[in-house]
Amino acid sequence: MGKTFRARRLPAHGVKAGWAALLPSRKPTPELDRAITADVVVIGAGFAGLAAATRLTELDPSLSVAVIDADVVGNGASGRNSGFLIDLPHDISSGNFGVDAATKSRNEITVARSAIQLYTRLAHTNGWDKDVFDPCGKYSVAMTDAGKEHLAAYSSKLKALGEPHQLLDAAAIADVTGTRSFKSGLFTPGAAMIQPVALVRGIADSFEGSSVTLFERTPALSIETSWCGCAVKTPKGEIRADKVILATNGHAESFGFGRGELLHVFTYASLTEPFDPSVLGGLRKWGATPAAPMGTTVRRINGAEGDRILIRSRYSYNASIEVGSSSMKGASKLHDRKFADRFPELRNLKFQFRWAGAMALTWNTVPLFGELEDRIFSACACNGIGGTKATAAGIAAAELVIGHRSALREIFQAFDKPQKLPPRPLVEVGVRFNLAMREWRAGRE
Ligand SMILES: Cc1cc2nc3c(=O)[nH]c(=O)nc-3n(C[C@H](O)[C@H](O)[C@H](O)COP(=O)(O)OP(=O)(O)OC[C@H]3O[C@@H](n4cnc5c(N)ncnc54)[C@H](O)[C@@H]3O)c2cc1C
Repeated sequence: MGKTFRARRLPAHGVKAGWAALLPSRKPTPELDRAITADVVVIGAGFAGLAAATRLTELDPSLSVAVIDADVVGNGASGRNSGFLIDLPHDISSGNFGVDAATKSRNEITVARSAIQLYTRLAHTNGWDKDVFDPCGKYSVAMTDAGKEHLAAYSSKLKALGEPHQLLDAAAIADVTGTRSFKSGLFTPGAAMIQPVALVRGIADSFEGSSVTLFERTPALSIETSWCGCAVKTPKGEIRADKVILATNGHAESFGFGRGELLHVFTYASLTEPFDPSVLGGLRKWGATPAAPMGTTVRRINGAEGDRILIRSRYSYNASIEVGSSSMKGASKLHDRKFADRFPELRNLKFQFRWAGAMALTWNTVPLFGELEDRIFSACACNGIGGTKATAAGIAAAELVIGHRSALREIFQAFDKPQKLPPRPLVEVGVRFNLAMREWRAGRE
């Protein structure tokens, strides 16, 4: 018997991310205005959806794939992030899905590196330069003695895993960042830095002339399944296909999937106006994540007009999958403080762009992955760090659809199912309290 899943709400991503504003404008692909057929429909053109479409055609170039997104490529969270493709887990010691801690860490590394490998292949094939995808590694930085201890302990765990890295003292990390605010740093060479909007646009452009057709500004209003296939209805058209990959992150819930299982958490970024690079020493391009997981991410980028600093900090729980102006104001004030604490030498510099973006988390930090209904496959609920995790979920979903076996697919299929959340009022209070506590514990980090 057939089933119908209607979208009860569509994404509203809010003000554009600074990354888009730094690039020349791009003409979106046409919206779908007719009935078409495809072998597979991918709903959502973020990291997960674009990776799924790419992997499908890598495995079977004869497959016809339609990708639709409610918005323009780059307006979703995949174009709103800080641009770190992180290859190593932040927490190496905990194991909570039935395997020992070292295996869990190794699996997380396989997931992350599968994603980075996909982008490495795409960068090579499409001739992307280092302003789009730069396999340059990243730093972690400590603002406090507690953070410094954490980095030293993390270094021991990396050693035990045999992962190359370098601990930097205050003077050495100052040589990188140009500021004396950090007490220590840790460099890991396997991470990559991206210009998020340039990267997702680059993938969208790479579909030209292939068997993947992208339709932007084309929301999926419903998915109908029957014994002979499925139909995805959009405002002006319809796609009939054999299978659907849902890559809508938290908006899986809008179709009724993962209801009562997804936590919609936002995080925020601000990007300064350009400054004269001679004002701040150090390297002109670097990225640093905080020693404490709930701390502040910092990045310096360089361009023709000068250099800019990005600050990413603050998490908020927004069950409606939208943020209001008061959340933006609160995050902006926090960013101003974090920036002043780290870059006293740039005290007169102003922020030019501010934005927020959504992430979907689950209680037991597992993705909403696999065949949720007959013919409907999911690569949703990134649990943060979606640059790698959502990308890898998209790859694994494509492999599952095609029947291709891989270590990555096995890891995804072995994840537990998302746990049910406690009743809504308890979640609201509990998550807000938890986020506030963790931010407080992160302190100056
Ligand atoms: C400020 C910020 C900083 C971050 N920094 C990092 C970082 O440095 N590194 C990292 O790894 N992660 C980072 N993240 C997280 C990361 O961006 C996300 O985890 C990732 O983008 C999730 O990718 P996705 O493809 O699953 O979802 P999304 O990018 O949200 O893509 C889902 C797509 O589905 C579309 N969609 C939804 N509903 C429909 C519908 N009905 N019909 C059609 N299309 C629909 C949306 O328009 C959207 O484009 C950050 C996030 C934010 C907000």
